[in-house]
Amino acid sequence: MTDFTPWPNDLIQLYRQKGYWIDKPITHGLRVQAEARPDSCAIQCGTRAISYRDLDKASSALAIRLLDSGIAQGDHAVVQLPNCAEFYITFFALLKAGIRPVNALFNHRALELRSYVQQLQPKLLIGSRAHPLFKDDTFTGELREISQGIELCLFLDDPDPHSDLRQWLLADDAPAGNWPDIAAHDVAFYQLSGGSTGTPKLIPRTHNDYDYSVRASAEICELTPQTRFLCALPAPHNYVLSSPGALGVFFAGGTVVMADSPEPNLCFDLIEKHGVTMAALVPSAVGLWLEAVRAGLQPPDSLELVQVGGASFAETLARQVPEVLGCKLQQVFGMAEGLVNYTRLDDNSERIFTTQGRPICEDDDVRVRDADGHDCADGETGQLWVRGPYTFRGYFRSPTHNQAAFDNDGFYHSGDLVQRDQDGYLRVVGRVKDQINRGGEKIAAEEVESLLLRHPEVLEAALIAQPDARLGERGCAVLVARNPVRPVALRRHLIDQGIAEYKLPDRIVFVEAMPLTAVGKINKRALRETILETQ
Ligand code: AMP
Repeated sequence: MTDFTPWPNDLIQLYRQKGYWIDKPITHGLRVQAEARPDSCAIQCGTRAISYRDLDKASSALAIRLLDSGIAQGDHAVVQLPNCAEFYITFFALLKAGIRPVNALFNHRALELRSYVQQLQPKLLIGSRAHPLFKDDTFTGELREISQGIELCLFLDDPDPHSDLRQWLLADDAPAGNWPDIAAHDVAFYQLSGGSTGTPKLIPRTHNDYDYSVRASAEICELTPQTRFLCALPAPHNYVLSSPGALGVFFAGGTVVMADSPEPNLCFDLIEKHGVTMAALVPSAVGLWLEAVRAGLQPPDSLELVQVGGASFAETLARQVPEVLGCKLQQVFGMAEGLVNYTRLDDNSERIFTTQGRPICEDDDVRVRDADGHDCADGETGQLWVRGPYTFRGYFRSPTHNQAAFDNDGFYHSGDLVQRDQDGYLRVVGRVKDQINRGGEKIAAEEVESLLLRHPEVLEAALIAQPDARLGERGCAVLVARNPVRPVALRRHLIDQGIAEYKLPDRIVFVEAMPLTAVGKINKRALRETILETQ
């Protein structure tokens, strides 16, 4: 089983020749900025302003201490931190040390964390005592049984100084150490896949490919040292991490302002206070911001650009952004697996309102194919296939799933339904993957269905997307049960299995029998039609 599927040699050469891959670690941008503008603010987190010098020093201190403690280059880490400066300091530290993390979302629970620990067998665990699972050491003990190699657990706000993450970041008396050589063609970290299967899949991202996507995105979005970027979505999301996200802002020498949530009062306050120029939002959050302004909240003056991505953004809402929020709009359609599309800042407004942009790179090889694998004409709806300089080539140790997700030519089949115009701009019009996109958070139907099926009364289960005015979609579980079960009992059943709350079905419906397709599978299309009529 492979940890990482490399690109073919001819493409590796091409990507180097064309300057996409520059054989430097993702941290090189931070090093450059720490020298060029050591005193500039890199991260604003509450009242703390962390300079580029301090970001560089604290991440180096942690990296050296981790290596000193016996965690080695190439080892794995599972990290779960909230939106705070320590998230980035830790991420840079692990990249500098060559320790490969996965960054779990803070709203992930036991099920997700167990799965990451099971898959990666980490030596290091970094979490927060503010998370309900890490209030005491019971769950850590459980994780140690799943991965017997866990050597070190560090926590934000741990009462014991030996395992308090902040103590490990102190730069003053940090030991000097030898830096490992980081091979830029190697895996830097694992990104989270939205997934459509039972187990959350991990996406190996290399220094070369991720760094390219960050640099190119920073250029497309015209980031400068004056950029002040609001991070109000969960920091590990690929979108706010790298499109251009916080990493793009650090690369350009700007400032990342941390927010706990996209709630408008909180965010407008932060924008005002810190002169934020740019924010990355999902459509449901833009909806909240637009409503808040209509209800009388003053839109912040400093905001120049709002990016919207992660889920379908209704054209009617898109048209309101410049008028109501008084700033430019940029649509972003990307995926943690790689490909990212942007409307360009100088595109005409019709294009910005009606498309989800075009790829970063001329060597993003995007195909729009019909169900038989034939190319679709411009404007026709088809499935998006892609390969390119920052689109991965295989999930971590998932040979069976990789066979389904990739074809023999290395194209990743994203499961999105798109239309492409003659200029290469894409419109996302649907999906074939069995997933619910709940306000930008992805839910793999199979994962929830398999947990529902563990309930003794549940005979058959199907999770389908139900349109929702606020979130875009919500999860609706359709069940065939032996005996009547109360929805509250089913939700409890799911919670008891440690599932993240956003994956809980918003609605539960019981039917006598499932409609079936010709080959005897549950016919979700037919289910959607009948169930949604009865909402
Ligand atoms: P993730 O890997 O979690 O970032 O999710 C990527 C998926 O989110 C894509 O494959 C799409 O299904 C969906 N997505 C991302 N951006 C957009 C967008 N602008 N419009 C519609 N769907 C989107």
